[in-house]
Amino acid sequence: MEPHPEISFDNTELAFGYKNDKQLKKARFLFSLMSKPWLVKMAVKMTPPVIKSGLPVKGLIRKTIFGQFVGGETLEQTAAVAKKLGEHNVQVILDYGVEGKQGEENFDHARDEFIRVINYAATQPNIPFMSVKVTGFARFGLLEKLGEVMKQQEGSLMKKYLNTLEQISSADREEWHRVRERMTRVCEAAVEKNIGVLIDAEDSWIQDPVDALILLMMDIFNKKRPVIYNTTQHYRTDRLQFLKDCYAAAVERNFLFGIKLVRGAYMEKERKRAEKMNYPSPIHTNKKATDKDFNAAVEFCIEHLDRISVIVASHNEYSNLYTTQLLQQKGLLLNHPHVHFSQLYGMSDNITFNLAHAGCSVSKYLPFGPIRDVIPYLMRRAQENTSVKGQTGREMMLIRKEIKRRKL
Ligand SMILES: Cc1cc2nc3c(=O)[nH]c(=O)nc-3n(C[C@H](O)[C@H](O)[C@H](O)COP(=O)(O)OP(=O)(O)OC[C@H]3O[C@@H](n4cnc5c(N)ncnc54)[C@H](O)[C@@H]3O)c2cc1C
Repeated sequence: MEPHPEISFDNTELAFGYKNDKQLKKARFLFSLMSKPWLVKMAVKMTPPVIKSGLPVKGLIRKTIFGQFVGGETLEQTAAVAKKLGEHNVQVILDYGVEGKQGEENFDHARDEFIRVINYAATQPNIPFMSVKVTGFARFGLLEKLGEVMKQQEGSLMKKYLNTLEQISSADREEWHRVRERMTRVCEAAVEKNIGVLIDAEDSWIQDPVDALILLMMDIFNKKRPVIYNTTQHYRTDRLQFLKDCYAAAVERNFLFGIKLVRGAYMEKERKRAEKMNYPSPIHTNKKATDKDFNAAVEFCIEHLDRISVIVASHNEYSNLYTTQLLQQKGLLLNHPHVHFSQLYGMSDNITFNLAHAGCSVSKYLPFGPIRDVIPYLMRRAQENTSVKGQTGREMMLIRKEIKRRKL
């Protein structure tokens, strides 16, 4: 394929081609609601207790915010959305969106569910990846403890990890062993079915043991193909260096380094915790610095595509365009097998569908799960669409432009 000369994210006919008139108007209504900070604030506060109380609000949620951002309540229900996206050359990253469940039984259930997702994805034409949260099958308190002990160690990440395992109690070690076993089962299934596993990045203070675990998995499972992917949040000041360190480890140990690049979703929480606990914030002081590191990370990955497989996971138009420009400058294919783009379902369709039209490998990150279990995800989306400066405005402007074009 020849490099595409012009990529623009302004074509709304392409962007919303998969939405009928009714769906488009509904999206306009939703984004107009989310542009009201007081309403979002109230919804974020009230929704979880209202759901818990059993009041009949699920129908309302299903018809509004759930339908906009979630693929369905069951795995099978995502099929209709995936099919629709596939018609426009857009792929899918399936995300079993259940969050916050605790207990060994629930963790084993999540492992089985992840494997079920992998098996299902393997039967579908356009689902090359699925995503996993380690907190889905590991106790948060255990990850926190491991993270804390690791921080006190010296040397490389793996050295800190191994030292930590020697220092914790045998009960904690056994619990961690079960986490590793769950992760291994998921990775084995992924390799067998050739489905990429993307591991989400969460709070910085639990990330060290997660990173160590993922590197161990890559060392085993990414020898021939990139199957396991970590995530780096570039709002963190230390992640660009971490990315480079992982690359060096991949070269040394001869595995392929899979990485999903994001800016990071928990900025306010991170800053608050750092302030409360009196340690330097791990987050860049301003957006410009985050953007700089994110784009530098893209550059680094594109420079090393022989060893790195990268997923640019962003709604930032510049970062997406910049990635395509770097590929073009290097004379590489826009659908290079080690370069993928992704946006969340329900957001930035103008980027996704225009990238797909230009020939890029691009997907929607599509969560599914029972309404009550995906509430944390939905609340994050509502907050993001209020707090990210300009995001809602941009979505609204594009939706309005398309409504006008369709003369609705
Ligand atoms: C496919 C996909 C997968 C994702 N997976 C994860 C994940 O695993 N973990 C995760 O944490 N997030 C994840 N995210 C969310 C992501 O981290 C961002 O929150 C979201 O995409 C917004 O960033 P952006 O690059 O799209 O664009 P932009 O709108 O350009 O950037 C907004 C982001 O910039 C940063 N920022 C904003 N203001 C400041 C400031 N004052 N100082 C410093 N930084 C600032 C924040 O990270 C903010 O979210 C994912 C997103 C996508 C699309």
